Amino acid sequence: MNFESTQERSMIRSTAEAVAAEYGPEYWREKEENEEFAQGFWDELGEAGFHGLLVPEEYGGASMGMQDMGLAMETLCAEGCGMAGTWYLVLTAGMAAVGIRENGTEAQKEKYLTDIATGERNFCIGITEPEAGTNTLNVATRAEKDGDEYVLNGQKAWITFSDRADNMILVTRTTPLEEVDRGTDGISLFIVDMDTPGIDVSPISKHGMNYSKSCEVFLEDVRVPKEDLLGEEDEGWWALVDMLNPERIGFAAAGTGIGKLAANTAIEYANDREVFDAPIGSHQAVSFPITKAYARMETAALMREKAAWLYDQGEECGYETNVAKATAVEAGIEAVKQSMQAFGGWGYATEYDVERWWREINLTRLAPVSQQMAYNHIGQQLGFPKSY
Ligand SMILES: Cc1cc2nc3c(=O)[nH]c(=O)nc-3n(C[C@H](O)[C@H](O)[C@H](O)COP(=O)(O)OP(=O)(O)OC[C@H]3O[C@@H](n4cnc5c(N)ncnc54)[C@H](O)[C@@H]3O)c2cc1C
Repeated sequence: MNFESTQERSMIRSTAEAVAAEYGPEYWREKEENEEFAQGFWDELGEAGFHGLLVPEEYGGASMGMQDMGLAMETLCAEGCGMAGTWYLVLTAGMAAVGIRENGTEAQKEKYLTDIATGERNFCIGITEPEAGTNTLNVATRAEKDGDEYVLNGQKAWITFSDRADNMILVTRTTPLEEVDRGTDGISLFIVDMDTPGIDVSPISKHGMNYSKSCEVFLEDVRVPKEDLLGEEDEGWWALVDMLNPERIGFAAAGTGIGKLAANTAIEYANDREVFDAPIGSHQAVSFPITKAYARMETAALMREKAAWLYDQGEECGYETNVAKATAVEAGIEAVKQSMQAFGGWGYATEYDVERWWREINLTRLAPVSQQMAYNHIGQQLGFPKSY
């Protein structure tokens, strides 16, 4: 790893700053209040080239890696977009692009990657189920072969953007858990067209990020052609892992990005606001907690760079990715919490945005991997017995 900033990285940073300057806190406050999808921002991400960052050049993308994507996401989040900087990229431009790039057939790459790069096609990712929860190996959505088709039946929960996505990468079982030697066997992924008959979507009312809908998805006798299988039948777990590490790197970028946005906003406020004849920022009780959280975010961001670098080299990166995600989220949450404290009562007012960032960053400790499960993984790598 080398810390010299390349021309490409400077360009990513400056482009992300320019996009965030146009789609700043006021824009997101309005989208959140109106519970409206941010189509303008989505289109702008396409024009800026961010949807195609991970797509190979031959399919219209930039052939860049997760280190670049992490930088784009963190900069968008930190410069004014908050969670949306990761949220609007991680599912389609992150997970779907990587999943298809790494495991798709030539026909799938041609069909999907070009549209992903332009922003014309958006994906949702169907992993979580109400019963299985965190234990993905326990998914019960079945895919049964019937001639040249598979028939899908099951239920997913919390599937973000499934109300409007063109496609879903769906995690199923082609062989039930009871019939496989290892739990990781018997899982298969499909690229499902969301217009296929038998799919029903129902939004879940939620705490934050209401500029997106996260929904229950019901699948009843949904018939898909065998060409929509992503990767090998029964071996989808490994294709899924290819997508989960980028997702965690994206959430590490969100943790430090939202945290930095809140901290920078609070620092400006703390220089301005006077109540005892001095700016409140001159009291170390106000400045130190934010400063300490900032220092921790800087360290976590370095770990994200390392995890992403390993991923881009095709190396094992599970440990580093979980360390980056867990530490970025802890530091980011502390930064938002202490920034809200610096705003006093105004931290509770929607017009100062910090209460929205608090709602946004709360998600990062629950998903896509909870903090406990990230630490379970790290602890196991350190030598503790497996606890899940
Ligand atoms: C806004 C939002 C958007 C989402 N978007 C998507 C999406 O697009 N696609 C998708 O597939 N999913 C999505 N999710 C789902 C998210 O990934 C899950 O909520 C998450 O994986 C946890 O599952 P669960 O809610 O069922 O929790 P549970 O599995 O019921 O866990 C509950 C708690 O117990 C803890 N726990 C469980 N087992 C252990 C253990 N062995 N050791 C320690 N602690 C443990 C967990 O960490 C958690 O804190 C989204 C969730 C939210 C809230």
